[in-house]
Amino acid sequence: MSNKWVYLFEEVAEAEKKTGNWEGVRALLGGKGANLADMSRAGLPVPPGFTVTTEACNAYLDAGKQFPAGCWDQELEAMKATEKATGKKLGDPKNPLLVSCRSGAKFSMPGMMDTVLNIGMNDEVVKGLVELTGDERFVQDSYRRLVQMFGSVVMGIDDEPFEEVLAEARQKAGVKTDAGLNAAQWKEVVDEFKTIFKAETGMDFPQDPVEQIKLSTEAVFKSWNGKRAVDYRNAAGIRHDLGTAVNIQTMVFGNMGNNSGTGVAFTRDPATGENILYGDYLINAQGEDVVAGIRNTEPIANLKNEIPAAFDEFVQICDTLENHYREMQDVEFTIENGKLWMLQTRDGKRTAKAAIKVAVDMANEGLISREQAILRVTPQQVDTLLHPQFDPQAKDEAASAGKRLAKAVNASPGAAVGVVAMDADLAEKWAKEEGKDVIMVRQFTRPDDVHGMLAAKGIFTTEGGATSHAAVVARQFGVPCVVGASEVSLNYEKRQLSIGDVVVKEGDWISIDGSTGEAFAGQIPTVEAALEEQEDLLILLSWADEFRRLEVWANADYPADAQRARNYGAQGIGLCRTEHMFFEEERLPIVQKMILAESEEVRQDALDKLLPYQKEDFAGLFRVMDGLPVIIRLIDPPLHEFMPEHDEVFERVITKRVKGETEGLADDENLLAAISSMHESNPMMGMRGVRLSVVFPGLVKMQVGAIFQAACEVAKEGKVVKPEVMIPLTGHVNELNVIQPQLEEVAKAVMEEHGIEVEYKFGTMIEIPRACVTAGEIAEVAEFFSFGTNDLTQMTFGYSRDDAEAGFLLKYVEDGILPENPFQTIDQDGVGQLMKIAIDNGRKARPNLEVGICGEHGGDPASVEFCHYAGNNYVSCSPFRVPIARLAAAQAALKEKGVSAK
Ligand code: PEP
Ligand code: MG
Repeated sequence: MSNKWVYLFEEVAEAEKKTGNWEGVRALLGGKGANLADMSRAGLPVPPGFTVTTEACNAYLDAGKQFPAGCWDQELEAMKATEKATGKKLGDPKNPLLVSCRSGAKFSMPGMMDTVLNIGMNDEVVKGLVELTGDERFVQDSYRRLVQMFGSVVMGIDDEPFEEVLAEARQKAGVKTDAGLNAAQWKEVVDEFKTIFKAETGMDFPQDPVEQIKLSTEAVFKSWNGKRAVDYRNAAGIRHDLGTAVNIQTMVFGNMGNNSGTGVAFTRDPATGENILYGDYLINAQGEDVVAGIRNTEPIANLKNEIPAAFDEFVQICDTLENHYREMQDVEFTIENGKLWMLQTRDGKRTAKAAIKVAVDMANEGLISREQAILRVTPQQVDTLLHPQFDPQAKDEAASAGKRLAKAVNASPGAAVGVVAMDADLAEKWAKEEGKDVIMVRQFTRPDDVHGMLAAKGIFTTEGGATSHAAVVARQFGVPCVVGASEVSLNYEKRQLSIGDVVVKEGDWISIDGSTGEAFAGQIPTVEAALEEQEDLLILLSWADEFRRLEVWANADYPADAQRARNYGAQGIGLCRTEHMFFEEERLPIVQKMILAESEEVRQDALDKLLPYQKEDFAGLFRVMDGLPVIIRLIDPPLHEFMPEHDEVFERVITKRVKGETEGLADDENLLAAISSMHESNPMMGMRGVRLSVVFPGLVKMQVGAIFQAACEVAKEGKVVKPEVMIPLTGHVNELNVIQPQLEEVAKAVMEEHGIEVEYKFGTMIEIPRACVTAGEIAEVAEFFSFGTNDLTQMTFGYSRDDAEAGFLLKYVEDGILPENPFQTIDQDGVGQLMKIAIDNGRKARPNLEVGICGEHGGDPASVEFCHYAGNNYVSCSPFRVPIARLAAAQAALKEKGVSAK
């Protein structure tokens, strides 16, 4: 027997048998088809129908747009079965079966592919339906929808000529909306649509329902490779070889009068996560009207007053669905003459805030486990939640100054500031080619606007509601979005928007607040989001802490950063870059004096002056981190970084010489000579890191003295101090052999002097490939390793970390030469392998070797997962990324245990 390409909704068990599990069913039947079948099995009211598989789509596309053998015959058979289930017949004017044809891939791609409704109508069926329903207006309206959708979706005719006919019809009839047109007027529209169809395609609108189904199935198959679907998949990281299924389903009509309607709803609020039914509906309308955001919809709660019985049943079904899927659902329904039909259910897209609240609530309700709750939130969502918000005071000021343009629907949270771009192409061009921050402003968005929406910092529309296309897409990608600002008028010709006297032109700045639904003319400053206020996130993170093995430390140089890190849950300081403090105004001249000193005496004098400053720096950190380890790295950058620019001093010297000025000339000449002598061709690979310590041990001895003086003083205050001294850029164990004993001596002397012992360690950064390969020897001396993956990546690839990204690296990533930017996500095959060698050999020499990472990768979720498997003790990242790393570390541990989100 040939392959089974078509499954009736009631054949879901067969699909399960073939694929072995539900994931497999979803891959075969697509998310929509699988869930329709599942809902039918659960006894919910689903209009009968069948699914043509994703395998059929792939086979069709692979064969150069030919149905695979047996597929079409199976579709014909399934149509017969559907006729039987409904008691209706395709093309029978007395009792016609009408069907919809919709795409449905494994992962939902809202609005990205094609849909045709009302298939099965033709001139004869129309006559029959008028007799059957006694409602010619409804019948003609349905027919014109078929001609229009079939024309645009299947035959590729532009929407514009159809829209023009509609606009004219409304004008002629003197009505504002389509709902005002009567039967005769709709009939005229149908005739004109058919004329457009013929003119554009050269053929009559096909009267045979079976041919309509065949062409529609093919159109859906082909739409898998349409530009907007491909763009969407690229952005959402969905594979291109999955294919889409095609769902053919009996039509039910929401536009059969005031006891009919249609809507979409979420079982919880997708913006906040609150456990309330959330959605919109329209009485006397068909599905597309709601999602297109063209007619203003009613909030779902009002349905209780209009069609109470159907509403009550709907509420119950939503409950059943949530319990069944243990996940927030996004459902579509239609009420036909008072009877409720479920047309779709799928996991609902949601904001970051909602994702966290829903996960925490569901775990508390006992629907899912805490482990699952942790796996249901992505580290990116945590990141989004900690994104900046507008400074409330600045916002109030902007409002008082009359700059508030709108208060509309808060469709996707977060603050966004950018210049107005009034179409998707321009938004993309400005963002990508000119690096501008853009707010895309439209009346409403369509699937082919997605490239612009993704490039934009924010999206603003004057129409549509919380379930409109703009809102759904923005939420999914975490782009702040405000929709339905109907008081704002857009003028595409003049390329401007306005409200009252306030006019904002394309290219002008606006600020939108996707959390409140406000929009303002001009730029409003933003403030950091406070973790303390995110109750659900705090709960989720506290659960994450129970499951993770990796500790999360932070990179912090100053006490205020360390305090933030600690508030965010950091368990230590993994990197304090001491050189940052040398740049402070009162210290820099002393540092320069120390560098330029010609005698040991002068140098020591400068070092003695620096010591109290450094001591205070470290004491502040130790106080904040009471009880936790603090890794302080000894000076790393080349000394010339602390000196004035060569050209600046050169210019000064030349000017003085030309003008004959003698004051300060000799000093400047000496300075210039010193700077010139320090010049290196490759300073990143020159005299820096431990090499500097070997050549100028006085400087690092001063630093170690300051560290231990601070440690002893703070310990005497009753705090628990755990300093760890980190030597950077070691490449050969002999470097440590030379310098570390000298430093340990200083440490001991200070402690002796203070009559107190603190717990301490001496260790090294591992950031040179040679250090990885010889880690066994290095671990004989170093008590801890911290991977400096910024330098390690630089040296492993041979890419200059300061030049590569501006030069070729982004192109490499775009062209797929590199899968990822290795300065953001650890290159596991290269850098990662070196890390593994270092950890293995290091621990062989010193079994309790403490291993961490303090390069930028420490806060990157994929790199955190890698560090979990590699056996790190901790990752260290910027304070803001600590919550992200906590979640990522827990997820890695849970995945290792085989826990899954579902
Ligand atoms: C590193 O190289 O990864 C590191 C943390 O040190 P720096 O970025 O200061 O060189
Ligand atoms: Mg480094």
